[in-house]
Amino acid sequence: TKKPPHCAGCGIALQSEEQEKPGYVPASSLNKEEAVCRRCFRIKNYNETSNVAVDQDEFLKLLGGISSTDSLVVHIVDLFDFQGSLISGLQRFVGQNPVLLVVNKIDLFPPVTNWNRLRNWVQKQAREEGLKVADVVLCSARRNIGFDRVVEAVNAYRQGRDVYVVGATNVGKSTLINRLISDYSDLERELTVSRYPGTTLDAVHIPLDDGKSIIDTPGIVYAWRMSEIVPRKDLASLLPDKPLKPMTYQLNAQQTLFIGALARFDFIEGERQSFTVNVSSGLTIHRTKLERADDLYAQHRGEMLSPPAKEDLDEFPAWTRHRLRIAPNTKQEVFISGLGWIQASGKTGAVVDVHAPKGIKVMLRESIH
Ligand code: GDP
Repeated sequence: TKKPPHCAGCGIALQSEEQEKPGYVPASSLNKEEAVCRRCFRIKNYNETSNVAVDQDEFLKLLGGISSTDSLVVHIVDLFDFQGSLISGLQRFVGQNPVLLVVNKIDLFPPVTNWNRLRNWVQKQAREEGLKVADVVLCSARRNIGFDRVVEAVNAYRQGRDVYVVGATNVGKSTLINRLISDYSDLERELTVSRYPGTTLDAVHIPLDDGKSIIDTPGIVYAWRMSEIVPRKDLASLLPDKPLKPMTYQLNAQQTLFIGALARFDFIEGERQSFTVNVSSGLTIHRTKLERADDLYAQHRGEMLSPPAKEDLDEFPAWTRHRLRIAPNTKQEVFISGLGWIQASGKTGAVVDVHAPKGIKVMLRESIH
């Protein structure tokens, strides 16, 4: 029998079925001699990485290797989906190595944001999720904000060591890595792609002046994030690319908000109060009475209530209901991973139900604002 073809660049087994998975090559090139996977092709030809995602098991295998190295671990998280993109188990895998938390997408917050307060919030949330970090840096890879601080912090904390960059998918890791590549690499030096020790996964090595490298690892897929389960064509409306425009609704108990057909928010019990919705402006919010909500959904799902569109709804997971109690006199908000958050005005407390696709992380958290 013939051995399955492998990438001439990184050695990974080639496949032509799934573009987003490691080892992808167009079918026409699959059996060519010296065929390289799309990731290697991009790195070689365009000096940029492409998104390759792995599932949790593969990722944990890969992370396990880091603890036996002497390195700095740079963990990139998405400020828009903090609890969804944080790798809370990271501590166990990195051993004694310090973790630098790089919080990306701060461009989604208004320039008047109290950044010190936000950094404290990040630190506290990371601690609550069980992650100890050496430092927190805020940045926007896309808008090129805070990139100098990232480079400074990496240089300060790595102290002659290799740097591993880890993160979930869609946090902006490629955008940031591509910036690092253009910053650190010049024509004389070549980017190398090599297999990660002990696994079949490739990683990108960006050479540093002192002979050490920045090592990019594949993005981990967390199925609890809305951004992982929406149809690909809806990703652009789900992921905000402009500063968030919070929408405030004065609600009486027994009123409902639909966020497209992605999630539903029922105000069950409590005094009339305001709820502020922070989601991408690409999504439409509909308000109705709780008693009409089921009918409205049955009649308008996939049309007025979208995304997802009608033809995609059958593939979309059915909703499950989460009952949450917002305590009085607290600054709490309902967080729906990958979709955004809804802040209660908080004086008198509220009982709410969130309907979200099965498996999506829904929780109460201290308000980010
Ligand atoms: P990766 O999967 O972690 O490698 O993420 P990408 O670099 O491919 O980025 C994922 C999505 O987030 C893309 O739509 C990017 O345009 C977007 N993105 C990346 N960095 C930023 C940022 O700083 N701000 C905003 N608003 N979006 C960003």
